[in-house]
Amino acid sequence: MSTGEDHDRGGAGQSAGFPAPRIIAVLGDVTTMQVDAVVNAANRALAGGAGVDGAIHRAARAATLRAACRALGGCEPGDAKATPGFGLRARWIVHTVGPVWNGGGRGERAVLASCYRRSFEVAESLGARSIAFPAIATGVYGFPPELAAGIAVRTLRSLRSAVVREVVLVAFDPSTLSLYRHHLQTA
Ligand code: ADP
Repeated sequence: MSTGEDHDRGGAGQSAGFPAPRIIAVLGDVTTMQVDAVVNAANRALAGGAGVDGAIHRAARAATLRAACRALGGCEPGDAKATPGFGLRARWIVHTVGPVWNGGGRGERAVLASCYRRSFEVAESLGARSIAFPAIATGVYGFPPELAAGIAVRTLRSLRSAVVREVVLVAFDPSTLSLYRHHLQTA
């Protein structure tokens, strides 16, 4: 269901005339993806944490990544900032900060859509041809997975790029994978 609240408002990543990247969904661990950029579900302080964030810090060179994150000076919800991959297969990590779910009346949908759009734009500006996304905000931040999957697919489908060729939606569990498959077939 689209509420209209998460609709993309334009900007980079929407350049008319450029092709739409291929979007696929896989079951797996985002830290092991063989892509140019992996997206991290980070927190505002970019201080490292649980879930995806913890896994990325463990898989990369943690101390170097922590220092690079500190130098970025935090990140607002809905925005994204990049560091090198520091030992991941991916060349870059794009850190984005999801919305904490507060019932849905505080702009959470728009902030989540912005996470996908801004992460895509940041990865594109680095020259990434492929990007892997975890299910941002659906863990500790409590965003309902069904809603989040629809927003992810709709937002990414609206983006165009001369650079990014493939977007991988990484589901950590089979139910998230079926949500992605459903939306990719029907959205
Ligand atoms: P947030 O704080 O934004 O909610 P979390 O990291 O707590 O982010 O969780 C986001 C989603 O990522 C959850 O659905 C969780 O199951 C999933 N997840 C956790 N670890 C991984 C991983 N290594 N790879 C892919 N997805 C993961």
